[in-house]
Amino acid sequence: MCGIVGYIGDRPCRDILFRGLRKLEYRGYDSAGISVIREGRFDLLHSVGNLDKMESVLHQLEDGSTMGIAHTRWATHGRPSNENAHPHTDCSGRFAIVLNGIVENYLALRVRLQEEGHTFTSETDAEVVAHLLERSYNGSLRGAVAEAYRQMEGHFTFVAITTEEPDAIVAVRKETPLVVGLGEGENFVASAVPAFLAETRSVIFPDDGELVVVERGGVDFFTLEGEPVRREPEQVDWDEDAAEKGGYETFMLKEIHEQAVALADTLSQRLTHEGVVELEGLGLTEASARALGQVVIVACGTSYHAGLVGKYALERWARIPVEIDVASEFRYRDPVIGPNTLCVAISQSGETADTLAAMRLARGAGARVLAVTNIVGSQATREADGVLFTRAGLEIGVAATKTFLAQVLAVLLLALWLAEVRGTLPARRVRELTQELRRIPTLLNSYLEDSADAEIERVAREYAHHPFFLYLGRNIGLPVCLEGALKLKEISYIPTEAYAAGEMKHGPIALLDQGSPVVVVATDSHVYDKVVSNIQEVKARGRA
Ligand code: GLU
Repeated sequence: MCGIVGYIGDRPCRDILFRGLRKLEYRGYDSAGISVIREGRFDLLHSVGNLDKMESVLHQLEDGSTMGIAHTRWATHGRPSNENAHPHTDCSGRFAIVLNGIVENYLALRVRLQEEGHTFTSETDAEVVAHLLERSYNGSLRGAVAEAYRQMEGHFTFVAITTEEPDAIVAVRKETPLVVGLGEGENFVASAVPAFLAETRSVIFPDDGELVVVERGGVDFFTLEGEPVRREPEQVDWDEDAAEKGGYETFMLKEIHEQAVALADTLSQRLTHEGVVELEGLGLTEASARALGQVVIVACGTSYHAGLVGKYALERWARIPVEIDVASEFRYRDPVIGPNTLCVAISQSGETADTLAAMRLARGAGARVLAVTNIVGSQATREADGVLFTRAGLEIGVAATKTFLAQVLAVLLLALWLAEVRGTLPARRVRELTQELRRIPTLLNSYLEDSADAEIERVAREYAHHPFFLYLGRNIGLPVCLEGALKLKEISYIPTEAYAAGEMKHGPIALLDQGSPVVVVATDSHVYDKVVSNIQEVKARGRA
């Protein structure tokens, strides 16, 4: 999710590290930090906000050191602040680490380390790593990294340095990116190639659980048990633009391919092994969840469509009356809400003005407000009674893709949690549904990998010249159609309508010419037969 850069060589590294961070800005940033070793001690710089903020204080870090690590953070655990910005250090001040990803068992590790006397200075999951290194260091940073890695669950990359061994950087990854760049008398480590593309094109992509020891004279790879591994460098021929897009043509396509990771991250730590939904920070006790009389969902654009899926799920599973409105309408209405209302406000950025205004209106009327957002520390998180984070990472494409799916997943989790607490679904059924949710990231990935792009391109070419598209769906197929139609308008500028399939005969059918494309969402559900008869209706009229 975030950006990591490490450098070791013969040049002063402060500006090299900062330039590397700049190249990783597209991976997300809400705070940043650099740590270098100078005269046997760490020099640390943290800043909150974008990299312009860091640039304005960069001079505070003396530029003499020739090795260091740097990080741009995209917070998942703990709001953006100086204390939570990486690098994190241990109690003795001898170990510094930067981490990308999530340490799923950090709470258990943190409690254990605290019991052993370690003092924590941040709210992040990442800080445990620095203390784990401190605890197990026995003269070898590589050994301590291996030991920390063994104890950590989740998906992450971390890079560590120690004042005890100022001539090495050690890195390891688990299901998140890590790349090594090989130079002349200097070497790099990063979460993505653009960080050092201006310096070298000779790279190695380590495997999960491979210990990477980066020194001035070379880079060595080891198994966790300490066996050397032989790795040959490859040359990348991407230009900077292609490298930022991970080889995809556009950020949107890159983000479509990140959807499975966004879903896996949003699920992470929210299902127990037995499939029980556990949601922290909702601002609702089980008793208050049982007492709820109504849910009101407010959102705009794509988030509104995710909310519509939530309405179907909340009513079906949790048996709560649900009202949903676009925030720009809701805020100027006189809605009937009160203390037994849960207002679910969905906003990717957590800064959408209409959604914030709708939240304030709901709070003013005595409702509890739950924000569903992708941005830790955003305004919505500060004003809500509780927060449910999607963990989709930064989305650069203007048209929402991975964040939409993550929002849908978040509202489904909420509906299942409420269903269980309110006893409206048998526990066994909740388990079945959560098992299905667990399978989605893998299924989605295999769909995207199995040449979906080629098939989609073929269909797009066949229909691209049509001046109008109609989307039809029922039940949760309807919000999917609304979202699909929105995408086509935003991206292709093609006039598009989306309708409840049952409404087709009440008007929209008149819009269709001979051969007009009609996109129908017909999934395996209780409305499948109904949708099929709508398809027949369209066809019988010689359309589509
Ligand atoms: N989970 C870590 C944190 O919240 C790292 C997030 C990131 O990848 O930037 O600090």
